Amino acid sequence: MTWFGDLTEYEYFARDRRPDVLNVGWLGRDPSFPTAIPSEETLDLLWGICWVAVRQTRGFHLCEFCPHQPTKWCLEASRSGRARALGSAEVRVFSKAGAVYAAPNLIYHYVEAHRYKPPDEFWLALHGGPSPPDEEYFDRLRQLGVDWIAWSRGRNLKMT
Ligand SMILES: [Zn+2]
Repeated sequence: MTWFGDLTEYEYFARDRRPDVLNVGWLGRDPSFPTAIPSEETLDLLWGICWVAVRQTRGFHLCEFCPHQPTKWCLEASRSGRARALGSAEVRVFSKAGAVYAAPNLIYHYVEAHRYKPPDEFWLALHGGPSPPDEEYFDRLRQLGVDWIAWSRGRNLKMT
């Protein structure tokens, strides 16, 4: 996984680059990230956002902080009885004020398993901004003009 500093300008996919889109959670191999124990509410919100895949790709990134398992080709996370493969898409989080945060969907795993603490402004956006299944969340995605797919129980619900 590529490393980008938190709150730097998003640049992973040049086409989606905009000055108001900021990186969060691109931890790469650098283990020196801030940590905190996440609340269940934070994990629920992140988990919900992981089901809306932005920039879904065919390849998977594995977590650099977990022991390498040669038989695993992707990282599967589960919550509330549902499992999801992470590492092949991004997520977007929107603040009420208009900021946009771009993260790999591995951010759920980083927060849940490795106690990664995202920047406060990201936390505020996650807790105060729109989130799926609110229509406002999907409106903001459409305004952004990125490719995204919303998944539910493995089925494809919506496409741009
Ligand atoms: Zn891990």
